[in-house]
Amino acid sequence: MAHNEKPTALIMIFGATGDLAKRKLFPSLYQLFQKDRLDRFAVIGVARRSLTNEEFKDSVKKSIAPNGETDSSIEEFVSKFYYHSHDVTDSNSYSALNELAKELDSGYKLDGNRIFYLAMAPEFFGTIAEHLKSDGLTDVGGFKRLVIEKPFGHDLESAKVLNRQIRTAFSENEIYRIDHYLGKEMVQNIEVIRFANSIFEPLWNNRFISNIQVTSSETLGVEERGRYYEKSGALRDMVQNHMLQMVSLLAMEPPISLTTDEIRSEKVRVFRALRTIKGSEVNEYFVRGQYGSGTLNGKDVPAYNQEEMVNPESNTETFVAGKLMIDNFRWAGVPFYIRTGKRMETKSTKIVVQFKDIPMDLYNKQEGSVSPNLLVIHIQPDEGITLHLNAKKNGQTFGSTPVKLSYANKGIDGLNTPEAYEKLLYDCLRGDATNFTHWDEVALSWGFVDNISSVWENEKEESFPNYNSGTMGPRKAEELLEKDGFFWWPVENLDIQE
Ligand code: NAD
Repeated sequence: MAHNEKPTALIMIFGATGDLAKRKLFPSLYQLFQKDRLDRFAVIGVARRSLTNEEFKDSVKKSIAPNGETDSSIEEFVSKFYYHSHDVTDSNSYSALNELAKELDSGYKLDGNRIFYLAMAPEFFGTIAEHLKSDGLTDVGGFKRLVIEKPFGHDLESAKVLNRQIRTAFSENEIYRIDHYLGKEMVQNIEVIRFANSIFEPLWNNRFISNIQVTSSETLGVEERGRYYEKSGALRDMVQNHMLQMVSLLAMEPPISLTTDEIRSEKVRVFRALRTIKGSEVNEYFVRGQYGSGTLNGKDVPAYNQEEMVNPESNTETFVAGKLMIDNFRWAGVPFYIRTGKRMETKSTKIVVQFKDIPMDLYNKQEGSVSPNLLVIHIQPDEGITLHLNAKKNGQTFGSTPVKLSYANKGIDGLNTPEAYEKLLYDCLRGDATNFTHWDEVALSWGFVDNISSVWENEKEESFPNYNSGTMGPRKAEELLEKDGFFWWPVENLDIQE
């Protein structure tokens, strides 16, 4: 499809009464509708609960207009929503779903294009995909695409099984594996910053960069997801997907062109160059943490092992810090440090690129010696870029002082920064899979992470809980960098405004 053509499709959302559908999918679709990005479309919401079409439409309305406001655009939007009560494990119910799909396809002239969005627990993904094929829902005249939420498997083995199941019904280029970080404006901006600026490109290698730090910290605890999180932990929940994806965008070679295949194949090459860390090396390169109780924003919060559905003796990590080495010509010797955790001091996702020190610091005898140049990419909640330079101190002195050049995305675009899901849905409707993860990336990243989890699962961490809620993680995470002569740049010094 040409980029300016508006997409037409039947969108089936499995799990349409769930949290993701209500909080992200309906509002994102509504944004696209309001911006006139969509041509003809209709939506079938599928979930187990029995609801009438009217009740379903009301729930969509509530999600896009929570204060009950209504107008003709909202009415027109929800008129395209239909509900099908269906237990996805019940083989008999798929043919009725197909009948409804065919009816809407001809009624709305949807050209036989279908998107199947699986906003449900992952254990159902394989069964649904198999049924879609066996019951004829994928026999369409137009395109068929499967959008699948994380987690994609629990480890490499289960990911392979799942992949085999969905590949019976969809080819690789019809599968859109969501990593919502890839829909974020500033994550997409990593490539533009790198490949559209001649001042960075020549420096983007081991001759000029000393280390890269990627932090994604949350203040929230495990909330009501204890049951899921106990089996997952931060390594599977955050590192296998979002953190490694950001590293691959930072480290990839410039693609030959900006096509999906070229970009993905460069990312895959990063995963292939990622040094395998296993066995006794794991605890040298990786640190795990689990939050204890503490104070956050003036409120006392409980320890992880006191949360609902969590084993009081839990060995699950809520924090991971790691040192990744990319053994290729560009990056040999440059550590990529990552850290992510729950109940940390602040909610923030940032990338800090630290450049090497200048060969000789002429200012070290003056007041204020130079600090390293940093390029900070603010992903969330702030969006923007800051470049840390050294400039002359004002007045009668020769000393230098750090200055920051900042670009704040929000400041310029107002509140219009499109939500990640809106962009990703639009990409999928247009058939652009660039910002979704390819199977090769999934397989390689699971392979990497499995080596770490197999050590951690077999060795109980006796020091858990080992960081207080409201801090930046365990002491060992600081030591990981100190061993190499570095430190985590304190988040409070990296503020975009100043
Ligand atoms: P949820 O529990 O709120 O919703 C699950 C939905 O599945 C409900 O509509 C429920 O009716 C339906 N369902 C359950 N069993 C069914 C069955 N047998 N047949 C038919 N329908 C059935 O879950 P959620 O939070 O919306 O998450 C859905 C998926 O999205 C999960 O894979 C989750 O990991 C992923 N995800 C969610 C979020 C989020 O913000 N909620 C963020 C990222 C990823």
